Amino acid sequence: MSDFRNFINGQWVATGNTFDDRDPVDNRLIGRVHEAGDAEVDAAVRAAKAALRGPWAQLKTQQRVELLHAVADGIIRRFDDFVDAEIADTGKPYDLASHLDIPRGAANFKIFADLIRNVPNETFDLETPDNGHALNYGVRVPRGVIGVICPWNLPLLLMTWKVGPALACGNTVVVKPSEDTPGTATLLGEVMNEVGVPPGVYNVVHGRGPGSAGEKLTRHPLVDGITFTGETRTGEAIMQAAAVGVRPVSFELGGKNAGIVFADADFDKAVAGIARAAFDNTGQVCLGTERVYVQRPIFERFVAALGERARSFKLGRPKDPGVNLGPLISQRHRDKVLSYYSRAREEGATVVAGGGVPDMPDDLAAGAWVQPTVWTGLPESSAVIQQEIFGPCCHIAPFDTEEEAVALANATFYGLAASVWTGNVGTAHRMGQALEVGICWINSWFLRDLRTAFGGAKQSGIGREGGVHSLEFYTELRNVCVKL
Ligand code: NAD
Repeated sequence: MSDFRNFINGQWVATGNTFDDRDPVDNRLIGRVHEAGDAEVDAAVRAAKAALRGPWAQLKTQQRVELLHAVADGIIRRFDDFVDAEIADTGKPYDLASHLDIPRGAANFKIFADLIRNVPNETFDLETPDNGHALNYGVRVPRGVIGVICPWNLPLLLMTWKVGPALACGNTVVVKPSEDTPGTATLLGEVMNEVGVPPGVYNVVHGRGPGSAGEKLTRHPLVDGITFTGETRTGEAIMQAAAVGVRPVSFELGGKNAGIVFADADFDKAVAGIARAAFDNTGQVCLGTERVYVQRPIFERFVAALGERARSFKLGRPKDPGVNLGPLISQRHRDKVLSYYSRAREEGATVVAGGGVPDMPDDLAAGAWVQPTVWTGLPESSAVIQQEIFGPCCHIAPFDTEEEAVALANATFYGLAASVWTGNVGTAHRMGQALEVGICWINSWFLRDLRTAFGGAKQSGIGREGGVHSLEFYTELRNVCVKL
C-alpha cells in the first residue's frame, strides 16, 4: 500500500492525519495520504519563497532549460511507474494513460522550456521633446510562488501543464493535487530530487479543498499567484481567497460543450469524433461533449450510430486486453452522475443507450462503474442539458439552420470548447467565429497544439495558458525606459 507524503523543500513530510486513497476500479484501499495542515502548507510556501532567492535563481536560462528537459526525461525513464500510479488513482485504461497522460506530462516540461529560450521581448523607441530618444524594452521576471490547484481527471497532464511553464519562467510552485489522485504529483517529487532540481522549487501538499490544504494554500499571503483547474464554483471560492492581497488568478473551469454535426459532414468521422468527445476518459474531460446537436436530415441515423458506439465499449481493469473504458473517479462522483441519469428518466428522456449501472464481475462490483449513455427528447431547459455532469453521457437534439445551431450551442453560461462537423468551409469559419468558446474544433476534437491559447470564455475560465500566453500569468512584464 502506498504512503503519500507531502514533498516540502525536497523532503518527504508525514503528518499524523491521513485519509484513504481508493482504486475506483474495485474500491480497494491502495494508499494513505498525509493531509497537510497549517504548519505543512506554511512550510511549503516558505520553502518556495526561499528557493526564489537560492540556487534556482542563479541558474542561467539555458541551465534551467536543461534541468526541465532532465525532468521530462526523468518522467520517461520512470514511465511505467507513472503509468501505474495514474492507473491506480483513476482506473483509466492503460492505453489512455500511456498514450496521453504520461507522455503529455513529460512534454509539458520540454515545450515550455524550449519556448522560454526563444521568446522575444518588445522594444519601442520613443522620440522625446528634447530631440532625443528613449528606448523602452520589456523584461520578463518570475511572478514568485505559484499555488497550483489541480483536479483529478488528467492528474499529471493538467498539473504539469501549469508546473512546466511556471518553472520555465523561473517561479517556484506549491502543488495541491486532487485528494482523489495523489500519486503522480508525489512521484514527480522523486524525479525532481533525482535530476537535481533545488529543494523548495517544487513542493506538494496533500489534502482536500475547503478547510484543508487547498484553502490554506490559496489563502497563504506569501503565494504570489494561483493557477487552478477545476469546477467553476470552486473557482469562485478561490477567487475570493485570492482577492485578499490582490493576487492574480488563472482559471481553467468547467464546461458544457456542444458538438454540432451538419448534414454535409463526413458521417463516420463525425460519429467517431463525437463518441470520443462524449465517452473518452469515461466522459471526465473538461473539453468533452455532453450536448450534441445534429442537423435534421441525418438526426435519426446519427442517434442510432452513436447509440451503437456507446454500447460497444469494453469496461474493465485498466490493463485487461481490449478494455477501453474505466470507472468514474469515485463513488461520490458516481452518485452525482447517476443522479443525472435518474433525472433524465424522470423528465421523460428517450434512453438510446445505457442509462444505468453495468453488470460487472464480482471482483469489480464495488467499483465506480456507470454505463455510457445517450439520450434524446429532453427540453433544452433540463438540468441534464444545462449542468456539467462530467460522466460518459450526452444528449442529442436536432436542429435545422446554422443560426439555430449557434443559438442552441451558445445558450449556456459556460464557454470552454465546441466541436463542429461539416464539409462546408464557409460554415466551418462562420461557426468558428460565432460560438462563444475558448476553443473551437472543426472536424476534430481534442487536437492540441501546445503553442496555442487554451482557456475558457464566459464562466469556463479566466485567462489563457499555452505557448506564449502562459507567460502572461507566470511572469511579470517589467518595462525599462532608458533615456538616450
Ligand atoms: P474541483 O473544483 O472539485 O476540485 C479541483 C481542486 O480544487 C481539487 O484539488 C480540490 O481539492 C480543490 N479545491 C476544492 N475546493 C477548494 C477551495 N475552496 N479552495 C482551494 N482548493 C479547493 O474539481 P474536480 O472535481 O477535481 O474536477 C472536475 C472539474 O474540473 C470539472 O468541472 C471540469 O470541467 C474541470 N476541469 C476543467 C478543465 C479546463 O481546462 N477548463 C480541465 C479539467 C477539468
